[in-house]
Amino acid sequence: MTKTPAPAVELRGLAKHYGDVVALTDVDLSIAAGEYFVLLGPSGGGKTTLLRTIGGFHRPTKGEVLLHGQEVGHLPPDKRPTTMVFQAYALFPHMSVTQNVGYGLKVAGMDKAQAAEKTAAALEMVGLDTFADRRPHELSGGQQQRVQLARAFVLDRDILLLDEPLAALDAQLRKDMCLELKHLQEKVGITFIHVTHNQEEAMTVADRIALIANGRLVEHGAARDIYRAPQKAFTASFVGENNLLSGRVTETAGQTARIDVGGTALRVDRRGQQVQTGQDVTLSIRSESVALDTAPDTEEDGTSLVGSYNEAVYLGLTTSHLVHLPDGTEMVSRVIADQDDMMPAAGAPVRLSWQPDAIRLHVE
Ligand code: ADP
Ligand code: MG
Repeated sequence: MTKTPAPAVELRGLAKHYGDVVALTDVDLSIAAGEYFVLLGPSGGGKTTLLRTIGGFHRPTKGEVLLHGQEVGHLPPDKRPTTMVFQAYALFPHMSVTQNVGYGLKVAGMDKAQAAEKTAAALEMVGLDTFADRRPHELSGGQQQRVQLARAFVLDRDILLLDEPLAALDAQLRKDMCLELKHLQEKVGITFIHVTHNQEEAMTVADRIALIANGRLVEHGAARDIYRAPQKAFTASFVGENNLLSGRVTETAGQTARIDVGGTALRVDRRGQQVQTGQDVTLSIRSESVALDTAPDTEEDGTSLVGSYNEAVYLGLTTSHLVHLPDGTEMVSRVIADQDDMMPAAGAPVRLSWQPDAIRLHVE
């Protein structure tokens, strides 16, 4: 019988207060060994606090941190299997790439020949073996980032903590480095926990994503599920470009709920959620799932709304058509640019419609 390995990280009822500030409440989370895990959420939500608590830079106010099944509350950062990659490039400017990467081993008192071998292996791993003699100022931002990663690999820690590692890079380099991080993690196979407020970055690198806001873990799941099937309205508002609609339940029959949205009855699959007649709910539907049609006087079918056309925003690859519902709510229909020749006049009545399974119901 094979024993399932303990998760790389397990958080149980974790809370962290700074004096009166409640930075984290009641976080339960399990991260498997070898996962690329992203903590995603708005600024001030508690992501850095969570990462630093895993790394041992903060003591939890309540709850437990287990790393590979061991409770580590009493261990300082350097006694944990974690290592932190810092946001600012904390490289020694007067040292070569090799010296920067080998520094940790030198401090740990490792035999010189052995340290040199490990350092060379780490540099090869991140593709910097031909840059070994350069100083940090002779490297691009992306290369400096890789030196940081090599520094972590050389220490044999198998849980890498990255706090907004790409925040200082410009947009193009950020995209390139995202993919590079993802490929490196696949190659090395250790656990990456990556904090970001950028949902595109999160989608690019993550196996799984946890949404963190107001000190709480809102929702977590596979990156694709978080995008395609958000459970919580907050997730829908933060990931992807979702239209959010406020409505009230008027009827439930089987899995179908009827929701009144500004006087129009919409049909929504409950997907197992319990709702009561009269309950206020939120609906979400991604902008790319909403089709725009100039013929508003088709019959009501429960999967469309009528509004007045506002304007088009051309975004290169896609065009967003903005439509106002009678109550002022703005909805967006996003289409591949130049594949539609539709350009209604401002104020023209239009119908927005979608496939029945494209709309989601959120009870909170
Ligand atoms: P994020 O990384 O998601 O932006 P943080 O973990 O940095 O969020 O912060 C969470 C909350 O805790 C915020 O309200 C922040 O102001 C507060 N906070 C963070 N660090 C400290 C600190 N050292 N002392 C007091 N409050 C803090
Ligand atoms: Mg932060």
